Formats: sequence, C-alpha cells, structure tokens
Amino acid sequence: MAFELKDRDLMGRIGRLKTKGGIVETPAFMPVINPLTQVIPPKRMKKEFHVNIVITNSYITKMNFSDVPDLDVHRLLDYDGVVMTDSGAYQILVYGGVEITQPEIIDYQRKIKSDIAVILDIPTGWDVPRERVEYTVDETLRRAEAAIPLIKDSDALWVGPVQGGRHLDLIAKSAQRIGAMPFQVHALGSPTEVMERYMFPVLVDMIVAAKRNLPPHRPLHLFGAGHPMMFSLAAALGCDLFDSASYALYAKDGRYLTPNGTLRLEDINYLPCSCPVCRKHTAEELKTATKAEREKLLAEHNLHVCIAETDAIKQAIYEGSLYDLVERRSKGHPAMTSALKRLWEYREDLEKGSPAFKGHGVFYYDQNSLARPEVTRYTRLLNENYRRPTKAETLLLITTPTHRPFDNSEEYKRLSQHLYNELGEDIDGLHICFYAAPYGLIPADLSETYPLSQFEIFTPLDLETTRHTARAIANYIRESDHKAVYIYRGKGELDDEVECVLMDTCEETKINLTTVWNNDPWSADAFSALTNTLKQRK
Ligand SMILES: [Zn+2]
Repeated sequence: MAFELKDRDLMGRIGRLKTKGGIVETPAFMPVINPLTQVIPPKRMKKEFHVNIVITNSYITKMNFSDVPDLDVHRLLDYDGVVMTDSGAYQILVYGGVEITQPEIIDYQRKIKSDIAVILDIPTGWDVPRERVEYTVDETLRRAEAAIPLIKDSDALWVGPVQGGRHLDLIAKSAQRIGAMPFQVHALGSPTEVMERYMFPVLVDMIVAAKRNLPPHRPLHLFGAGHPMMFSLAAALGCDLFDSASYALYAKDGRYLTPNGTLRLEDINYLPCSCPVCRKHTAEELKTATKAEREKLLAEHNLHVCIAETDAIKQAIYEGSLYDLVERRSKGHPAMTSALKRLWEYREDLEKGSPAFKGHGVFYYDQNSLARPEVTRYTRLLNENYRRPTKAETLLLITTPTHRPFDNSEEYKRLSQHLYNELGEDIDGLHICFYAAPYGLIPADLSETYPLSQFEIFTPLDLETTRHTARAIANYIRESDHKAVYIYRGKGELDDEVECVLMDTCEETKINLTTVWNNDPWSADAFSALTNTLKQRK
C-alpha cells in the first residue's frame, strides 16, 4: 500500500505516501517549479525550507530539453526530494495546436524518472457547455483506460484525474469510474477560474463530490490550489496534496501573502510575519530593493507562509482542531466565509471522518460552529441510541445551568435535592433533561460525557444558534413517547425560543405542555413554584 493513514480530523488526514523518491507526509504542499527559471532554487527549498516534494511540468520540460540524453528530472531541477510531474494537459489545452500523444508524454515521464506522474487528461475548464464537459469527462476516462497497459510496470505513482467542472453529477461519475481503475493517486482538476474568482463554495461542492466517489484509501491531489488561506479548507475536505505557484506569481506582482489574505508591498509599513526574511529585513528595505531582489525575498517569504500553513494544518489534524483553523481562515475573505457556511450541507461527511473523542474542549464561536462534527454526532446518537428510563414518562426540561458539567453544578444540585425532598419517589416519573446551545436536549445523566461538559460557547447567542437548539429539542420530542412536557425556564433568548417552538411541537403531537417561568430559576421561590406545579400533574 503506497498510502498509510496516521491521523484524521473532519475529512482531513495525516498520511504517509511512499514514492520511489522517498516518503512524503501529507497533507503536503508542493511548490510549482518552472523547469526553465526558478526564483528559489529547488535545492534551497529542500535544505532551508524543508520542502520534500515539488511539482514541475513534463510537457515544458520535453519541449525544451528533449535533446538532453538520459535526462533525470531530479538532476535537471537539482533537487533530491520527491518530484511530481504534470502531463502538461493544461498547457496543451490553453496554447492548442501542439501535438503530443498520450503514449509519448507517459513514456517521457517514465524516462525522466518522475516519482508521481499524470496521464494526459483533458481539463474541463469553465463556462463551457455541458456537452463539452461530458466530452472532457469521457475522453479523460478513455485515456485513463488506455494508459493502464502503458504504466502497469512503472515504479512511479500514477495519477488518475477527475474532471467535470461544476457539474457535480459528472464529477461523481468521473470519480467512480476512475476510482475503479488501478491508479495510486487521484486528482481533482479545479478550473483556474474557480480559484482566481474565489468561488470557494463551488470548490467545496466539487471536492466533496469527488471524495464521496473515490476510494478513501487513495490520496487526492488538488490541482492549482492557489492561496494558502484556502489550504485548510481543502485539507478539511480530504485533499492530501496541493500544488501552488502563488508563492512565485504573487512575488512577481509585489504581493505579500499572509495566512488570511494578501497585502500589496507598497501598503506595508510593518512585516507581520516571523519568517527569516521578515526578521532580517524591514518593510522599507523590501520596498527599496532592486526588482529582482524584491521578487526573490517576497517569494521566499511567500513560500515560508505556504509551508507554515501546511504545518499548522497538520498540527490541527493531530490535535483535532481543524474546524477551528478553517473558522479562523474564513475571516480572510468573505468568499472563505461563504465556503465555511457551505460546510453545513456536508456536516455528516465531516462527522464521519472525525474521531469521537478529541481530549480537549470544543469552542463555539458563532452560528458557523453548528456544522462542527461534535454537534452532528451528538444529535445523531441521541436520536439513534438514547432511550429514556421506562418509568420517566414526563419530560422535565431545565434551563441551562451556568456551570458545567450541568448535573454537577451547585445550582442544579440544590434543585435536584429540592425535587427529591418534595416529590419523593415520584421523581422517578420525571425524565430530567437540560436544554443548552448548541446541543439541544441533554439528559441529566449524560451531561458529564464528552463533549457535553467540555465546551465553551459565545454569548449572547445568535438567532441561528437559538433556532437550531430549539429545533433539535422539538425533533427529539417528536420521536419520543413522553406523556407530558414541562419547561422550567429563565428569561434568556434561548428560553423564549424553546418555549415558542415547543408550543407548536406539543400542539402538533398532542402532548400536554406546561411552562414554569422565573427570572431567577435557581432561587428557592422558583424551586417551590416548580414542585407545586409538578404535584398537580396527576
Ligand atoms: Zn515573512
């Protein structure tokens, strides 16, 4: 097996990809190297930046170095790490008219000893009619089939690209069919327009459509990943490899990358980065350097940012905080916020990939945290696996205590003692649950389990979060068989929303609903009002 998984979070994973040129730990960022000119020599990338994998273009290499005998791409680039070569399908599409056949380019990649190589696929492009998209998918599949006999005794890893553009059904078909062929790596052809126009929600749809239909144990490469602010999003959706030329292209254009966006050098007075370039130079020095020197320094800084971001992603997967990282990066650009919101649609996919226990608390920052796997998993398990005690036919919903675990909080212990003193054995007829954002209903006897006590949530709650919480409780009640529901509530927005939503739910399900309301639900007066009401229930 060429690919071995070590850790996972969301749909992202840390893996080890074995190639003939060495082992690559994923997620891996691969700088795009132009075989003709390099602003940072690949040898320096390996030594000073610890870049263990790069990607270059076999078509451009063939066009310029075809007369060099026994050319080895590692020697050409003066780089002793892992080299992936693209087939140049994209260049052929863009510049057209240049004739090269798939057997030729496959043979060439074998000759120059690429460690990871790509068949001659047909990139889908953007804004093309559906018939054209269908053609690119079918023709890529046809070429993939034709490539199998040409690569079967190769020691390189071969990439089977998935096409389909924004047509998710065609991506799914493309992924299913190519996933059934004996490739070791897959790649998603992402139209440059999607990246350049920051259509990140579309990209989310495209990646998930591919991931759902590809064999999960094969790594997925995202072609042309672009800006480092979206690396964590791509990793969270299960992309294991991504290439980008942004470090060099942005440098050429006087742009300074940060993990959250891009700054123009002329707008910078201070360098907000701890890389060697930014510690050795001032903003003024960068601005007044010669053009060539400035481009070189900016490229070095930009490369440091891309690599540090990749390490931040790996650390986040390792500690189970990848969702937090994606949330932070979503502030970099509104298009990233839109992509984060899009994750709600795929919350079940995110949940499936995430470990059940992360050993640390969960932070809820705003409504966008509702797609976190902890919320999805808890809601699912409560509905699928939890059963109330048989005798406890009356549901008593208690407002959120201020301390966690809820059933161990001082205020709840007093209330619980009071209920016991006043109701005696009748307390067995009560199914005591708390209601709290974002989980909804929390049975008292589960409130110490992970993550129901290990979380922090923002206040005041936003509308989406109170609505989500109230709806989760309503859904539970609809599926349960309680004879009556009591709400013991305070004066917060969540209390209002829960009462309002449950009035409708209980009317619809013909369950008797009673509300006991107090501004201070933890006062002795409030306790007495509750037990007096409960005593009347027979
Ligand atoms: Zn820097």
